[in-house]
Amino acid sequence: MEAAADPGNLAGVRHIILVLSGKGGVGKSTVSTELALALRHAGKKVGILDVDLCGPSIPRMLGAQGRAVHQCDRGWAPVFLDQEQSLSLMSVGFLLEKPDEAVVWRGPKKNALIKQFVSDVAWGELDYLVVDTPPGTSDEHMATVEALRPHQPLGALVVTTPQAVSVGDVRRELTFCRKTGLRVMGVVENMSGFTCPHCAECTSVFSRGGGEELAQLAGVPFLGSVPLDPELMRSLEEGHDFIQEFPGSPAFAALT
Ligand code: ADP
Repeated sequence: MEAAADPGNLAGVRHIILVLSGKGGVGKSTVSTELALALRHAGKKVGILDVDLCGPSIPRMLGAQGRAVHQCDRGWAPVFLDQEQSLSLMSVGFLLEKPDEAVVWRGPKKNALIKQFVSDVAWGELDYLVVDTPPGTSDEHMATVEALRPHQPLGALVVTTPQAVSVGDVRRELTFCRKTGLRVMGVVENMSGFTCPHCAECTSVFSRGGGEELAQLAGVPFLGSVPLDPELMRSLEEGHDFIQEFPGSPAFAALT
């Protein structure tokens, strides 16, 4: 029998949620960020681990660009984003000298960094750790899942846009989850329609229903649709707390 792995710095983390998507640009980092903020506003202690090596966008989305991470006696100390220290962030973006540095790294270097990231961040006590992964199903995903597997409960949230092409990519993502034994908590459809701010009519910009159909076919829960929302986009660009500042906007109800 294999010996149980030492949970180390993850010993105080109660739940881990991996956020996955079949391809880039569908809103995976957006969902990771807003999920973390919504949990934090619900009174939970939350950490975000941004392992999207080729596009670590969460520091910008949370207004934490340029913040420095420090070594402490248990590894890397994450960046705290609020006074109560209820929301913390560790991103590969904090460690890269140039934003595109990781793009040219070979697989083994990326995998080694991911493993180190997962084991070396001193999170302390957390209710939830939200992990933003790179798009697709690469070796980096395997490295992330392998490094997190000893820690349970571990689940995956899959983000898609409604179009068939994105849904096709997500099908591969679900196969990856099945093959790696990763429990799928559900599918979130993002950019599902645009509600006109003047007449409140909803237009399905990218067709609709793909995420729900996929969830049904795969036999996993459909968790809901997040509309295209210019306020959400602006809030992410400017590093604002969308959940706190835009409670009346179309995406708020879906994200909370
Ligand atoms: P991914 O992590 O999948 O590459 P991002 O979360 O970085 O995608 O989102 C891509 C872009 O789309 C970002 O500029 C983000 O602000 C914007 N975006 C994502 N979801 C929405 C939405 N529901 N409404 C408006 N803009 C969105």
